[in-house]
Amino acid sequence: MNSDDFNSLLIGRFQPFHKGHLEVIKAIAGESDYITIGIGSAQYSHTFENPFTAGERHLMISRALKGEGIERYFLVPIIDINRYAVWVAHVASLVPPFKAVYSNNPLTKRLFQEAGYEVRASPLFNVEVYSGTEIRKRMLAGQEWRDLVPKAVAEVIDEIGGEVRIRDLMKGLL
Ligand code: ATP
Ligand code: MG
Repeated sequence: MNSDDFNSLLIGRFQPFHKGHLEVIKAIAGESDYITIGIGSAQYSHTFENPFTAGERHLMISRALKGEGIERYFLVPIIDINRYAVWVAHVASLVPPFKAVYSNNPLTKRLFQEAGYEVRASPLFNVEVYSGTEIRKRMLAGQEWRDLVPKAVAEVIDEIGGEVRIRDLMKGLL
């Protein structure tokens, strides 16, 4: 990465990484030299909202991007600090320099705009089903979810016993 490269930033929790996320990354890749993918709420795992560790999410994303031939990216875990006034500085301290932020989250957009960054609207792909909430709900209910994630992500989830973890969480066993 050079100082005149156009580096973009995308932040999400990726619980799990799904086909909507992959489509956004492909779209951003067409407009950027490098993409930094921030794995948000990195400290959480083993809860229903955040079932997967930052390391497991890292594996899901890197294997899915390898399958797509996307190589010019950085993956950075970002722990919550619960202080919105300094959150952008916290993020900037952890990631390589970036020029634009892609987000649809109103608070994320506001915070980066106030800090002087260019915020670009992130294109949406089939949000009713390409959604972490929907996928976690389906895993819990024993419904088909594999179609909603890249094949590499389904493989990681199977390797780590993700479905059983989510069901055990909801049964109060964990
Ligand atoms: P959850 O339902 O758990 O909130 P999510 O599917 O919204 O999960 P996030 O990790 O919250 O995923 O989202 C990260 C980023 O990806 C956000 O900027 C969000 O707008 C974007 N995103 C999520 N789903 C889609 C989608 N289907 N198409 C395009 N962008 C998406
Ligand atoms: Mg979301």
